[in-house]
Amino acid sequence: MLLKKPTTRLAPSPTGSLHLGNARTFLLNWLLAKQRGWKILFRMEDLDGPRVKPGADKQAIDELAWLGLDWEGDILVQSDRSEIYESALKSLAAEHAAYPCTCTRKEVEAAASAPTADEFSGENYVVYQGTCRGRFKNASHAEHRTDRPVAWRVRVRDNPVEFEDGFAGPQSFNLLETCGDFVVFRSQGLAAYQLAVTVDDYDAGVNVVVRGDDLLLSAAIQIHLRRLLGLVGKMEYWHLPLVIGPDGRKLAKRHGDTKITTYIEAGVAPQRMLGLLGFWSGALEKRDEIDLPTLLQKFDIEKLPKDPVVFTPDDDAFLLGK
Ligand code: GLU
Repeated sequence: MLLKKPTTRLAPSPTGSLHLGNARTFLLNWLLAKQRGWKILFRMEDLDGPRVKPGADKQAIDELAWLGLDWEGDILVQSDRSEIYESALKSLAAEHAAYPCTCTRKEVEAAASAPTADEFSGENYVVYQGTCRGRFKNASHAEHRTDRPVAWRVRVRDNPVEFEDGFAGPQSFNLLETCGDFVVFRSQGLAAYQLAVTVDDYDAGVNVVVRGDDLLLSAAIQIHLRRLLGLVGKMEYWHLPLVIGPDGRKLAKRHGDTKITTYIEAGVAPQRMLGLLGFWSGALEKRDEIDLPTLLQKFDIEKLPKDPVVFTPDDDAFLLGK
């Protein structure tokens, strides 16, 4: 049997400038790939309707290139692939693995007993209670009966999805308890993240996924979808700790401006940012400038801290040379 070349991807969402947390995850993905001889692809995840910002796609490419990261081949753009996602949905619907749903967000929240706090990101989410499971014969039935736009959900089972994560270790998620039937097509007619990522990874030959550990549950969801879609082949997952703010929540706007663009505009050199990201990744003992080839030599995944990294004012001061 021929073994497939390990292939990974950098997959930013163009929802604004990347921040230091995203930059660290992409850098770690790149370092792991280069050290282990994986092929690196690039995918633009531009399906997140209202959150996608014009120009942020080019900006993400420029920011990663500014850090020195590279990849092979053409960039795969999700918004070019609607027909492929639609045909995946059709096959799920034909198997009765997916069903139409007309619940509003409010109704989903009201039906769930209480929002669940995501262990990794600290954000709240709700478990879908299956309100529309078996309720409609098909999409037009759902539309006529409710006079609402139709989304599609995939059925989950009441048994664990298990996998071994390269960094986070053995994982087990009962999808019925942790998320419930999940959305694969949104009512605006766009594929949802879970479906697009699953189909794209398979089509591009991606078999190693490296990303933040806020997406561990998504790995279980994507494994479930791969099985339903008959997408065979071994996947390797590496879910890495995130950068968080002093309040323990995932780094975001609320923690001030940690956008890469802002630092570039302030005249920060890539070596300085790599120095901070390298320090956060266990490759440097203190914050210090470093170039990418040297960081590549020094980086050791065994030394990557198991806990999230806390962004502090000292980090910002180092970057700005204060
Ligand atoms: N687009 C996601 C992000 O920017 C990554 C999704 C994935 O790797 O599956 O965090």
